[in-house]
Amino acid sequence: MTNLNEMGILGGGQLARMTIEAAMQLGVRCHVLDKAGDVPAAAFTYRFTEGNPQDFDTVMRFAAELPAVTIDSEHVNAQALTALEAEGRIVAPQGRVLEIIQNKCRQKEFLARCGFPTAKFQVVKNRSELAGLSLELPVVQKTATSGYDGYGVKVLASAADTNEAFDVESVIEEKIAIAKEIAVIVASDRTGNRVVYDAVEMVFDKQRNILKYQLCPAEISAEVATRATELALSAAKSLGIVGLLAVEMFLTEKGELLINEMAPRPHNSGHHTIEAAATSQYENLVRILTGLPLGSPETTAPSLMINLLGPESDKVAQWNAMIQTALKMPNAHVHLYGKRDMRPFRKLGHMTLIGERNTLIRQYETLTWAS
Ligand code: ADP
Repeated sequence: MTNLNEMGILGGGQLARMTIEAAMQLGVRCHVLDKAGDVPAAAFTYRFTEGNPQDFDTVMRFAAELPAVTIDSEHVNAQALTALEAEGRIVAPQGRVLEIIQNKCRQKEFLARCGFPTAKFQVVKNRSELAGLSLELPVVQKTATSGYDGYGVKVLASAADTNEAFDVESVIEEKIAIAKEIAVIVASDRTGNRVVYDAVEMVFDKQRNILKYQLCPAEISAEVATRATELALSAAKSLGIVGLLAVEMFLTEKGELLINEMAPRPHNSGHHTIEAAATSQYENLVRILTGLPLGSPETTAPSLMINLLGPESDKVAQWNAMIQTALKMPNAHVHLYGKRDMRPFRKLGHMTLIGERNTLIRQYETLTWAS
């Protein structure tokens, strides 16, 4: 085997940090490029480079000697990934795939062109184009770029709302009556081998528009689970992606499965795979980048995953008490990302609880601190 024990990661957030944890186990050295030096992955990195992953030349210089490159976030230079792939490096995801996914309009159009089921949508260039909307209100507006964690998503229910809509290129979708939100992760290597993780179910706090917790396996029928697996696999095949693809879907009240959005990288909905699957999403990404065989995605135990979001200023003591409680629970695996800035609602860590579904939901309720 050639020197495949090194890899580069564009961006040094928590996803990079957990990828590095998996890489260390396999004896792989990780190099990280990020604008800031105190990001979560920095302390774990073999070589850290301070620089902008969105700048072509910076990425090319950073990766000059690296056999393989991956990403921590979509906000990186896709052209550089394409150039690195053309030089024969292992690149996951490819620049071509990232360009489709980076822009929500392009992503939805790709899905529609390939015949995947999605919410009905229209693309608008700005707010004034909403006047010609053929979809009936209410609709959901999603800005084409820089939308993440609920930012850049708005429900437009009335004419007054449309006057307040984001005035940028956006996808406008019909508002779906959602029964469940699920996600499926596919790992694909360079030779077309693929493994698929079990669907997870995301439970939201509708008022605050944040994830309450996530359960694996999702409580869905075997038939829906099979359909979700097939949809995610065919999305990975249609993209021809190398690396991880997380496919978020809506199960509608009518029983349809619609693809909501995709991410070409390790995903929040796969954190539990560290403790609750035979091979974690992070380890499979490292295996893909270093030419090792894919590992089994099999669920080894049911789990509940909670994001540990930064507490509001009057809830810091409760937050600390909750972490102390969790650390005493034998079935809780606490991950703290080492972020210095504990701003409210920032993702500071997560924890995965292992056990039977209903017990886990009861346990979650004993741990909630924010309500
Ligand atoms: P983000 O990239 O911010 O995660 P999403 O597309 O996942 O954006 O949207 C955030 C949330 O908004 C979803 O998890 C879902 O609860 C809700 N949502 C998104 N699109 C629709 C839709 N078409 N109909 C109803 N709810 C939606």
